[in-house]
Order: sequence, then C-alpha cells, then structure tokens
Amino acid sequence: MTAQGFDGVERRGLMFVLSSPSGAGKTTLSRMLIDRMPGLKMSVSATTRAKRPGEVEGRDYFFVAKAKFEQMAKQGDLLEWATVFDNRYGTPRAPVEAALAAGQDVLFDIDWQGTQQLREKARADVVSVFILPPSAADLEKRLHTRAQDSEEVIRGRMNRATHELSHWAEYDYIVVNQNVDDAFAEVQSILKAERLKRERRTGLTEFVRGLQRQLET
Ligand code: 5GP
Repeated sequence: MTAQGFDGVERRGLMFVLSSPSGAGKTTLSRMLIDRMPGLKMSVSATTRAKRPGEVEGRDYFFVAKAKFEQMAKQGDLLEWATVFDNRYGTPRAPVEAALAAGQDVLFDIDWQGTQQLREKARADVVSVFILPPSAADLEKRLHTRAQDSEEVIRGRMNRATHELSHWAEYDYIVVNQNVDDAFAEVQSILKAERLKRERRTGLTEFVRGLQRQLET
C-alpha cells in the first residue's frame, strides 16, 4: 500500500486515528482535516445506533440494523468493531483498503477499543491522536450545545467520558482542544510530520540513488 508523497517520493499510506470523549470537538476537527488536507479520506463507520437530526447516511455513518452488523462482522467485512453506549460501531474494511491502495491516507473517528484493534493489525501504519477537552465544564457545555441528545443521554456520555479518558496514555499524541483553530493546527502538524517519517517513505532509497546519479554525472 503505497502513496505518492506530495514531493514525489513514494510512501506507505497511513491510518490516522482521532479519539476523544464525546463532546471534545473531534468531529469538528475531523471535518476540518478532510476539508483542508489533500490526500486524506474519511473512513465512514457502520453503526446500529439511531440517526441524529442532521446526520446523513453514507457521510456520517452507514446506519444498519443489528442483524446486518452481525453479518458484516462475521463475514470479516469490518476492520475493527466495538460496542459503545449499547450500540455497535465498526469500520468497513473494503473502502479503507481501496483508499490506501489508491495512495490516500485514511482518517478514523473511532474509540479506544477500535484503535487497539487497528494497532494490533497494522502497528506501523497507525498514527493515533487523543483529543482532550480543556475542562469537564467545557465538555458538558459542548454536549448541551450540540442539542442532539436528551438529558439522560448527555449524563450517560459524561459518565462514559471518565472511562474514555483513562485510555489517553495508549495514544501516540495528545492534543488539548482549548481553541479549535489551535487544536487543528496541532493535529495538522502531526499528520504532516508523520507523512515525512523515513520508515514510511518507501521510495527514498530510489530517490536518493537518483540524486546521487545526477550528482555523479
Ligand atoms: P457517536 O455515537 O457520538 O457518533 O460515537 C460514539 C463513539 O463511537 C465515538 O467515540 C466514536 O469515536 C466511536 N466510533 C464511531 N465509529 C466507530 C467505529 O467504527 N469503531 C469504533 N471502535 N468506534 C467508533
């Protein structure tokens, strides 16, 4: 799975994972990345949860029945999957493999369980970032402003956030989302630097040989 780097040096595509407790701003950051970083494609997950107002089938999720999800998992159609808030969430395998094969990097908005599974499968290709809210009050405020969920669901998400937070140390990078533009700049820097990693740049030997040949003549 190789991509053409923007400087013409061939490299392996990478799997860029963003995780955070709900309400830490991960969805906004993901959208900004997709809009502003060429060569990055969003992985759209399948889920058994109900569609929220404003969500679009195939853009935010593929909304599927539980039986269909089980079938996908059983057939090996999911790269990873997990149960979150009593619902199933999983990453369809084929689009990810196709994107990587076509030379694109793939962005994942998945939880710590999915991140662990991806890491087990493709450690060298996974770059993981955990987004932290600046405070608990900020997290609660964002969950309320989103206004898509009931009070009970919001309380559940706040409880769940404590659990999610405990997995921060399993990630390669940590970004505190105090200000969305600053957080975006940080996440963007991580992606840019990771794209330049020597280990990932499979075409370097050939590229340098070419340079040497040119210098010798
Ligand atoms: P939400 O219901 O708010 O869209 O997502 C709830 C949680 O499920 C979020 O933490 C999100 O990152 C996670 N999630 C979404 N899709 C997937 C997936 O395909 N796999 C895993 N493991 N988690 C997912």
